[in-house]
Amino acid sequence: MQINDKFLRVTESDRESILEALSNLKLSGTSKTVGNYEKALANFFSAKYAIAISSGTAAIHACLVALGISDDDEILLPATAPIMTGFPIIFQRAKPVFVDTNGKNFGFDIQDLKRKVTSKTKAIICVPMWGYPFDYKDLLQFSKNYGVSLIEDAAEAHNTEYNGKKIGSLGDFGCFSTHDRKLLATGEGGFILTNNPKYYKKIKSFINYSGMDGKAIGTNYKLSTLQAAIGLSRIKQMDWQVKMRRQNAMKILSGINSNKVSELPFPVSSKLNYQSLLLNFNLPSKKTARIISKLFKMGIPSDVVKYDYKPMYHYPIFRKWAIGCPNTEKLVKSFTTIPVHPGIDDKAIEYIIKSINLIVKDYD
Ligand SMILES: *Cc1c(COP(=O)(O)O)cnc(C)c1O
Repeated sequence: MQINDKFLRVTESDRESILEALSNLKLSGTSKTVGNYEKALANFFSAKYAIAISSGTAAIHACLVALGISDDDEILLPATAPIMTGFPIIFQRAKPVFVDTNGKNFGFDIQDLKRKVTSKTKAIICVPMWGYPFDYKDLLQFSKNYGVSLIEDAAEAHNTEYNGKKIGSLGDFGCFSTHDRKLLATGEGGFILTNNPKYYKKIKSFINYSGMDGKAIGTNYKLSTLQAAIGLSRIKQMDWQVKMRRQNAMKILSGINSNKVSELPFPVSSKLNYQSLLLNFNLPSKKTARIISKLFKMGIPSDVVKYDYKPMYHYPIFRKWAIGCPNTEKLVKSFTTIPVHPGIDDKAIEYIIKSINLIVKDYD
C-alpha cells in the first residue's frame, strides 16, 4: 500500500469562490478579493493585520526588510529549520546564527540563545516544525529583555494553538506559507500577521515596489486574486482539517504497541494542528534510520527521508556558519513524520499501525 503524503482536494466552495472573484474582473494583487482574504486571515488568527504574499519565503524576506536588516546584522534561528527559512537572511547579507534546540523538541535551548546573542543581533526566527509547538514563555521573555524582534516561521503551524492563542500571533510577526503541502493551501502563496501598524505599512509598501516612487528599493511579492479566492474558501475548512488530522493521529498513537515509540513531546497547554504526526524512536540513531527507511519502502512516506532532513548548516550554502548544535544533531535522527491528513482512511491507518509494529519489533 502506498500512503499519500499530500492532501489535494478541490471543493464546490473553492469553485464558487473563484467564480465570484472572476466576476469582479480585477485579478491582480490589489483587488477586493485580496482585501477580503486579508481581513478573514486577521480575523481567524486574531491579529490586527494580515498581509497576503506570494510565498512563505517572501514572507520571511519582507519581515527582515521591515526590520531594516542589512549587512552583518545577526539573526538567531534553529538549525532544525528548512533552508527556506535561512535564504532570506543571506539575501539581506545578514548572518544566520544557529542556536541549538532544547533536546526534546524544536524549541530553543534558552542558555544557548543567551550565549549567542550579541550587539549585532536584530531578530530571532522560531520554527514550530510540522506544527509542533514548544514552550514560548522563556522565548518571549528573552525577546523582550534583549530587545530582539521575534519572527515566527509558522509555515507548518496554521491553527496550532499555544495557551489558547494561535501560533503566528505570539511574536512581532507570524509568517505562513500556503503551498499545496501546508494546512491552508492555495497552490503557492503565503501571508504575514502583525499587530504593529508601522511594520504593516512597511511590508505592504515593500511588496508593492515600495510605493513606486523610486525612493526605496521594493519588489513585487503580491498574491494574485485567484489564489486569494481559494484561500478565502479554505480558511473555513481549517478547523475541520485539524479535527480530522487529530482523529487520525490519535488512532495511530493508540494502535502502536511498542514502548520504544512515542509522540514528540510538546507543551500541555498547546493544541496541535497535526500537519504531520511525529513519532520519536527511543533507540540508537542507526536503528531509527533503518526503521524509517524500511517504512518508507513499505509505502509510508517520511519527510525525514524525502527531504534528507538534517541541520541547516550541513547544506553547502550555509556551511560557513556551521556551529556545534549537539541536541539538534541528535533530534533530527530520532523521529519520523507520519501523514495524518483527511485523505488517510481507516484502511491506511490500519496499514500504518501494522507496519510500524512489525518493523519496530525487529529492532527492539
Ligand atoms: C514551506 C516552508 C517555508 C517556505 O514556504 P514557501 O511558500 O514554499 O516559500 C518556509 N519555512 C517553513 C518552515 C516551511 O515549511
